[in-house]
Amino acid sequence: QHTINKIAAGEVVERPASVVKELVENAIDAKASAITVEIKEGGISFIRITDNGMGINKKDISTAFLRHSTSKIKTIEDLFSVSSLGFRGEALASIASIGQVEVITKNREDLTGIRYIIEGGKETSKEEIGCPEGTTLIVRNLFFNTPARRKFLKTPKTEGGYVNDLMNRLALSNPHISFKFIYNNQVKLHTSGNNQVKDALYNVYGKEVSKNVIAVDYEDEDLTIHGFIGKPQISRGNRTYENFFINGRYIKSSLLQKALEEGYKTYLTMHKYPFCVLYYELDSEKIDVNVHPTKMEVRFHNNEDIFRITKKAVEQSLKSMDL
Ligand code: ADP
Ligand code: MG
Repeated sequence: QHTINKIAAGEVVERPASVVKELVENAIDAKASAITVEIKEGGISFIRITDNGMGINKKDISTAFLRHSTSKIKTIEDLFSVSSLGFRGEALASIASIGQVEVITKNREDLTGIRYIIEGGKETSKEEIGCPEGTTLIVRNLFFNTPARRKFLKTPKTEGGYVNDLMNRLALSNPHISFKFIYNNQVKLHTSGNNQVKDALYNVYGKEVSKNVIAVDYEDEDLTIHGFIGKPQISRGNRTYENFFINGRYIKSSLLQKALEEGYKTYLTMHKYPFCVLYYELDSEKIDVNVHPTKMEVRFHNNEDIFRITKKAVEQSLKSMDL
């Protein structure tokens, strides 16, 4: 069991950012409205995620760290209607197999909470403690028992940068959740969770960007697109300003990038890329999302429509702008 976890962990956990992603998704699934992420040394030596979600039941704590144990799917039917972010029951087992994990958690039904420690897949401590409702999960010394894997990590600065980018995307994809990100004792991001994209955008990108965007709103039966695009003057020399979210998830799509850029054709010179945060809502039966944990790719069943509508929505917003 232990060895299997270690091997399979490579799939879900390749770097601090993938650990943070899995743990934040668990907090979101637990209905947290506030999530704090703190890292040190790029997340390699220290990651702490605190949420105010439903917590883990005391009697379930050990099982939560077993491979393929998930509380999110109980029947085969559930598999086809899964709406939670995680459902494979792999993350906690994988993370505990290659790091030193400490959990403090309390479920509403329990009177006291529990502090649980598992290192390299081995339980070392389990004790009752008083704590607020919700979960704090600390991961120390990632890959401490797999030095070969640890060597594949980049510098703390680069790894921390990946976590920072991820936190920005998570904050933008969940404007209804308050996110706080602390990096080397500094607060890097703090969103209010008031469900206003414009406010999240201000927190992530700052005043200059948030002052220079215009709304996009497109709606028909099958598809809605809303969000913001930037005035041409806040464009960049690369595509890092292009953010697309589909049904609440950040995704990468060269189709959407092309459609956006075509929409800007008459406004931007060569090698300039626009700013956007665009949220798409569409029937999940009309897309294929690659559910591999480290990928964020999506395929649309009707490429031409999505392309045309995106381009048109962008053009219309640009036209309405006072340029
Ligand atoms: P999955 O998310 O695919 O179910 P995980 O290994 O990520 O699998 O988590 C295992 C289980 O542990 C979850 O199904 C959930 O019941 C519980 N859990 C994990 N993190 C949290 C959290 N932050 N709050 C409440 N429950 C959690
Ligand atoms: Mg999970």
